[in-house]
Amino acid sequence: MSQITENVAAVRARVDAAAIKSGRRPEDMLLVAATKMNDPERVREAVAAGVDACGENRVQELLEKHPAGAYTGKPVHFIGHLQSNKVRQIVGIVDLIQSVDSEALLRKIDAQAEKHGVVQDVLIEVNIGGEEAKSGVSPDALEALLLCVGELQHVRVRGLMAIPPIAGEPGGNHDYFSAMHQLFVDIGAKKYDNVSMDFLSMGMSDDFEDAIACGANMVRVGSSIFGARNYTLK
Ligand SMILES: *Cc1c(COP(=O)(O)O)cnc(C)c1O
Repeated sequence: MSQITENVAAVRARVDAAAIKSGRRPEDMLLVAATKMNDPERVREAVAAGVDACGENRVQELLEKHPAGAYTGKPVHFIGHLQSNKVRQIVGIVDLIQSVDSEALLRKIDAQAEKHGVVQDVLIEVNIGGEEAKSGVSPDALEALLLCVGELQHVRVRGLMAIPPIAGEPGGNHDYFSAMHQLFVDIGAKKYDNVSMDFLSMGMSDDFEDAIACGANMVRVGSSIFGARNYTLK
């Protein structure tokens, strides 16, 4: 068995165990492989090993790997910061854009999806740690953003996503994960038009079990599947 195949199995077992521990079903958890800096062949191995989706965080990389068949057979998500001038390049190609954080971006995606005759699923990224340099809408501005989704016919909000601050210690993001889950539950109860709270995307290699314990049903895992990224190569 290849290392990647082995790693996917190990991560999946941990996801399953975390789900059961929190009283939920393993089959309700979605494991998204964060594929950045891995070539199509390595991504295909993760797909074959049974991840539920691939998440790419640079448009350029996605556009190179997609035609190379890297994601074939599984949905592909965009999980990185999305510049509005790149929207055109990914709408209609990706199954889910996880990182939408402004009305302008929503409107741009809507317009592009209309051109393609599709409805684009998105998640709203929340800057739950209130970090200045980070993408994501602040929790205070979330309601206003969701209210404008009702008028858009080619975008559907399917849930929330968060990348909390880098934790200094294990369990360090517990409070952020819990706050996200509370938002997820509150918004779900309010029933905004065109908004359904199906997915709560949070948790990465270092903390996905904690995220699941707090209510995540979608985790984005990179290095625990592919090994440490070698940033000096690029
Ligand atoms: C890279 C990345 C991940 C995965 O990070 P790891 O710590 O390697 O698991 C998750 N989410 C986003 C948005 C990423 O860019």
